[in-house]
Amino acid sequence: MNIPFEIHRAPGTMRARVEDLRRDGRRIAVVPTMGALHEGHLALLRAARAQADIVILTIFVNPTQFGPNEDLSRYPRDETGDLAKARSCGIDLAFCPEAAAMYHAGAQTFVDVLELAKPLCGASRPGHFAGVATIVTKLFHITLPHVAVFGEKDYQQLAIIRRMVRDLDFAIEILSVPIVREPDGLAMSSRNAYLSIEDRRAALSLSAGLAAAQAAYAAGERAATTLLAAARAPIEAEPLARIDYVELRDAEELTPVERVEHRSVLAMAVVVGNETRKTRLIDNRVIG
Ligand code: AMP
Repeated sequence: MNIPFEIHRAPGTMRARVEDLRRDGRRIAVVPTMGALHEGHLALLRAARAQADIVILTIFVNPTQFGPNEDLSRYPRDETGDLAKARSCGIDLAFCPEAAAMYHAGAQTFVDVLELAKPLCGASRPGHFAGVATIVTKLFHITLPHVAVFGEKDYQQLAIIRRMVRDLDFAIEILSVPIVREPDGLAMSSRNAYLSIEDRRAALSLSAGLAAAQAAYAAGERAATTLLAAARAPIEAEPLARIDYVELRDAEELTPVERVEHRSVLAMAVVVGNETRKTRLIDNRVIG
């Protein structure tokens, strides 16, 4: 039986509503996002819809996962548009809190997943994953889901959340959804809205690099240095793109890999743009 759509902004009323639904035996799914929804987010919502009686979308641009020189203040926001898109996927509830409702003055407690948060994006964005793990913990406590859905686009984030759920005994199933791409290969991202026409073209070098590495792997190449060189080549040939990292790591532990003998992830972060306009994009592909 459907429930009427509701938006909650206060953690207390959100949790009270879910407690009632759980008492009625409903299976709850949550999809945490920062809004500016695109088809990637909608794929998560559809996967959640297929898994649960009640689907909760959360929209919160979480300040603690942004560094001091990052794009918090200009991050795209469109709650009305987001809710219209999400309702077309059949969500039941939305949780859209203000930052003041989520962080108590004098908060001192953070969740930090130690080793998995060190490399890759953790190395270039200090504190980012502690911000992510903490807000996801809080959203889990407020929305009390049976299942939570995340995208493989944020591969390291997904690995960290899976480990956190295991380490801290959250009774929540984590479901992941493959990367949704534009027809030309660019991974969908809310940050793609920042790209100029030239940046948008330069951004294709990420998926081109991943495809080149995959082709080399399919042709029998196993050495990380060669696979990484194939992945870097199209990005290095692009004047508007600067590599932050391109790395090959164990798909579970995120430790460095020299030869692809087991499932490995080729992960990259690339800054696209000129001096006045920079957008940091991430992408990845599991090989092996
Ligand atoms: P964000 O709003 O960027 O924090 O992302 C919210 C969720 O959507 C995360 O679990 C992301 O991994 C997921 N997501 C973002 N972009 C994509 C995409 N292109 N394909 C699949 N999932 C995505």
